[in-house]
Amino acid sequence: MEKEADINRAIHQHLEMDDFFTGGFTTKAKASQPKPQQRDNADAELKKIADEVSQCRKCPLGSLRTNTVPGEGNPNARILFVGEGPGADEDAQGRPFVGRAGKLLDKVIAACGLKRSDVFIANILKCRPPGNRDPRAEEIINCFPYLQRQIEIINPEIIVALGAPAARTLLNTNKSIGQLRGQFHEYYAGLGRPPIKLMATYHTAYLLRNYSQENRRRVWEDMKKVLAELGLPIPQQGEK
Ligand code: URA
Repeated sequence: MEKEADINRAIHQHLEMDDFFTGGFTTKAKASQPKPQQRDNADAELKKIADEVSQCRKCPLGSLRTNTVPGEGNPNARILFVGEGPGADEDAQGRPFVGRAGKLLDKVIAACGLKRSDVFIANILKCRPPGNRDPRAEEIINCFPYLQRQIEIINPEIIVALGAPAARTLLNTNKSIGQLRGQFHEYYAGLGRPPIKLMATYHTAYLLRNYSQENRRRVWEDMKKVLAELGLPIPQQGEK
């Protein structure tokens, strides 16, 4: 009997994972809900930061970029996704996560029963490092304050850190993404402000390079924890 339940669970998980990455999920529940506390002028405050970023020359990346990529989305989002930094597509368009990794992030968001416009998407770095190399310490030190201010304005209920550079920067740790993912951590937003829950998971670019069922399952498990924490429905395969 127990064995049969195990098999059923395994089949269910398999179907769930298959659908997660092919966009076959249907959900009967509402995708997003308003946040209890939101700032009226969040949009204008975020635009002000984007303007400052567009003038920024604090590090050499400022003279190498085509466009700055400050981030975009719902100024009152409950979930903030944070990646590493713009790639070639993002640099060309001035928008975050619009290349291949971005298309996969779109699928992750859709699998959660959400739209891109429900969430906010930003990066640690606002300018592209040449050749997509890893961000350097001095670049992060110069750029991170912009993200810190964005977080203060958006005040998300959960931050999803995509990949090691984002998770390590936000948590001020050197731990590996394997150690950090799958559990909630706390992002300290500053003195007198309550910490914000942070889930670390694999970056979608990593997932594309290592597209195993196990890795996809891990990301989906992480996102299910985020949805559960927010009291949002977890889309079920075949649910109409
Ligand atoms: N990778 C990132 O970390 N950020 C982007 O915006 C795109 C790809």
